[in-house]
Amino acid sequence: NKLWFQMLETGEKLKKLGYEETYTKPNLFLKKIKFTSEENGEKREEVVFASLMGTDIIPIWDDPRPYVWKSKNLPFKYFLPEFILLKRAGCSPRGSFYDECEPGGWMFGLDGIPSGYCKRCGKDILNLVNWEILNEDFFKLYRKGIHQNIEVNYCETCKNIEYAMREYRLQHVEDFKICELCGIKDAQIKHHITYNPEKVIRVCRSCHGKIHHKEFPNPLWKEKRNQD
Ligand SMILES: [Zn+2]
Ligand SMILES: [Zn+2]
Ligand SMILES: [Zn+2]
Repeated sequence: NKLWFQMLETGEKLKKLGYEETYTKPNLFLKKIKFTSEENGEKREEVVFASLMGTDIIPIWDDPRPYVWKSKNLPFKYFLPEFILLKRAGCSPRGSFYDECEPGGWMFGLDGIPSGYCKRCGKDILNLVNWEILNEDFFKLYRKGIHQNIEVNYCETCKNIEYAMREYRLQHVEDFKICELCGIKDAQIKHHITYNPEKVIRVCRSCHGKIHHKEFPNPLWKEKRNQD
């Protein structure tokens, strides 16, 4: 049957990406990730899990996509590239961090999970981006002039171009009614980030929807929500 074949295919892809099936639990795969601890310089090994076992709520027959999570002490910046590699291989991974995002948890800006390729020149930046930045507060960075979406979606050269263009667009937000988040023209909506001090950003309908969308916990949305 078709689903069975799809699962076999996913299993093959996982093996190619360096995952091994565990002995104790069939259909549970894991990949060992070696890295150097930033705290003490020690060599460490942690694990990324990819499960084709299904969950109590969603049997694997209903959704054959692998469920992916990491061991507790694997830093996020080593986990996200693995997740992106699974996406690239066509495994359609599901990540617990996306479905049950904790407060202050991992955010993916407004663009979803990045592809790891520069959006302008196509360069592979999977191992060049500091993914840890997605663990930081989107809005705190935004106030410092650092834009998560730019940081994780462009190579070093194109990043500078993006920031320059963003700067230019921001100068003309009012003139041209440009969305401050995606840069699209004709942004008609003024969204309150904070009321005191009053800070308003001009956004397009699409970005505004994303800011307020329930299933997309976004700091901008949360700040607004808390004040309503
Ligand atoms: Zn580039
Ligand atoms: Zn927009
Ligand atoms: Zn709003």
